[in-house]
Amino acid sequence: MKLGFNEATALKCKGQSLMADLEACEKYGFDYIEIRFDCVREYLKDHTLEELADWFKNHNLKPWAYNTLEFFNQRDEAGEKEIDEHVDFIIEVCKAIGMKMLITVPTCNVKDKSVSEIKEEAVARLRYLSDKVGSDIRISLEFCGTPFCSINQFGTAYDVVKAVDRDNVGITVDTFHFHEMCSKIEDLRNADGKKVFVYHLNDCEDLPLGSCGDDKRLWPEEGVVDHAAIASALKEIGFDGVCTIEEFRPEYYEMPHEENVKKAAEVTKAFVKKYFA
Ligand code: ZN
Repeated sequence: MKLGFNEATALKCKGQSLMADLEACEKYGFDYIEIRFDCVREYLKDHTLEELADWFKNHNLKPWAYNTLEFFNQRDEAGEKEIDEHVDFIIEVCKAIGMKMLITVPTCNVKDKSVSEIKEEAVARLRYLSDKVGSDIRISLEFCGTPFCSINQFGTAYDVVKAVDRDNVGITVDTFHFHEMCSKIEDLRNADGKKVFVYHLNDCEDLPLGSCGDDKRLWPEEGVVDHAAIASALKEIGFDGVCTIEEFRPEYYEMPHEENVKKAAEVTKAFVKKYFA
């Protein structure tokens, strides 16, 4: 199992930037980084994609995924145009630096739409995006564990991915999101491990289910997520990808940037050793 770092983890630390994340991730032994849309746009104000590609050529750390293509479904015409433009940018970034994945999250607050209507439309949108990015880039659908998200459980997201039926469309298992909307471990056990493209690692405070925002995330094993069950299901179905830490916690943003990345590396390594050795 490889180790990944999502830039959200240190996003608001003093001194954070894409380059600071890259250097610290290299130093503390991460294999992959998930690059955030806002961090890469900030980087490109003073740098080029060629410079970024050069950096990766000269380091062990590699780019894993683009995070995130937000709100891909249930959009109006202007919204779909926005998605097209964003995807054009993502393709440009991916091609330049050899990144092969984009993560996408569903739209929230779609009033009066039934789950079957949501699924049907999401399948059509993902097929469209699958064609648009081409076979060299994979799309990972990340359901979000909030009552307001149009796709908020593993089972629903997996139904969509299965119906899309494309090699380059799969699913993200984010342990916080999995816990928050009571996704079923049986659904994960019955899934095809090859369809799990991304594994986001974190934990969650012991608060009423569905009530937590991302700021209630904790370092893995410091909260109430049933990691043993999720990890054993992932092993059972043959998942062997990247385990990527992803936090959004204000207290962690108070840490010096390098300490944050160092801590993230320590807990991710310990977690992978415990559950996947
Ligand atoms: Zn996530």
